[in-house]
Amino acid sequence: MDSNTKVRCSFCHTEEKDSNLFIQGDDCYICELCISKSYNILLSEKKESESSLIIKKPHEIKNELDKTIIGQNNAKKTVSVAVYNHYKRLINLSSDKSVNIDKSNILFIGPTGTGKTLLAKTLANILNVPFVIVDATVLTEAGYVGEDVENILVRLYHESGYDVDKTQKGIIYIDEIDKITKKSANPSITRDVSGEGVQQSLLKILEGTIANIPPKGGRKHPEQPLVKIDTSNILFICGGTFDGISKIVERRVKGGGIGFEREIKDVSQESDFLNHAKPEDVVRYGFIPELMGRLPVLSSLEFLTKEAMLDILTKPKNSIIEQYQHLFKLDDVELIFTKNALKEIIEKAFLRKTGARALRSVLEEIMLDIMYDIPQKKNVQTCTINLDVIRKKITPKLLYYKKSA
Ligand code: ADP
Repeated sequence: MDSNTKVRCSFCHTEEKDSNLFIQGDDCYICELCISKSYNILLSEKKESESSLIIKKPHEIKNELDKTIIGQNNAKKTVSVAVYNHYKRLINLSSDKSVNIDKSNILFIGPTGTGKTLLAKTLANILNVPFVIVDATVLTEAGYVGEDVENILVRLYHESGYDVDKTQKGIIYIDEIDKITKKSANPSITRDVSGEGVQQSLLKILEGTIANIPPKGGRKHPEQPLVKIDTSNILFICGGTFDGISKIVERRVKGGGIGFEREIKDVSQESDFLNHAKPEDVVRYGFIPELMGRLPVLSSLEFLTKEAMLDILTKPKNSIIEQYQHLFKLDDVELIFTKNALKEIIEKAFLRKTGARALRSVLEEIMLDIMYDIPQKKNVQTCTINLDVIRKKITPKLLYYKKSA
């Protein structure tokens, strides 16, 4: 290089003498400022790609849900469309502001242990967004002792790794929402009179508000810096058993006009009535109409049949049976359940009336002694659980490895 030629940054032409750091490549140079700017660009690109949403089409979401959730086809279809629309709405908000698409918060009605929570959780997994479960019964109106509604946002913020952007695209599942209903028109249902206040305090965050949350949770105090969370794109899924709502649906249907009667002529069972629940039934049950209005997608989950329970026990990825088999495999033992044993487990679980939730507890009871004994024994190859192990509580049949000569 000619000694008179000044060495300059190839990007901004700053002279070498004016920069603390100067890096030389083949026929090019970069100054400290340009290095730092490039680094920041890299960081922001990375952040954007990490927080960008995977928008899947409804059938793709449903296919994914099918891998984990047995049955509940209607509910799976409804949420797949609702979630697709919800995230399309996010894209629309940033590109075309002329049409305002409403938020598709979801309300699940269905018996215990039928997959309401699992459905919400699986959705969050598929979409790769932060997710929290909140129990509505511990929520209180602002200013009362208990979990403040805004605290839900604090938990989502923590779950998202303190990332405001991610928090604002998360999913919040509010369980037992039916336990905060107000005194309803139906006197046979007892309810918590304070429920209406909690419903009122949920309205704002469900619809969309800017909440100022203390980043670490707890009570706000004046000197504390607060984090702003916009809830307008957070998807809220609420779920509850709504015990007794089928009677409200039945009354509406039977007292309804000809149209209604034709619509559900064959309805005879409780679950059939649940499938026909409408927002007005939920309002009669004790929801304030404003809250119902903010949960535009209503979906019922069905009672699980014995066949569905059997599938839940054995088929999904990571099924309960698979988990036990894996535990045994770690001790080099193959765990086998006969068909009759599996059927008996279902019969026992079915009697408990807590849906698939009972499966794990029934199995735990059966397996406790077996899991205590097996690790003490040597050379066990297979352990077979048959009907008698479950009915008569006899010890399972064990097969041992042949001793090598
Ligand atoms: P709830 O309807 O009371 O929210 P959950 O979703 O918590 O019920 O279900 C409890 C457990 O039962 C789940 O973790 C899952 O193991 C099992 N389960 C319930 N329903 C289903 C289903 N439809 N498909 C697969 N597993 C299910």
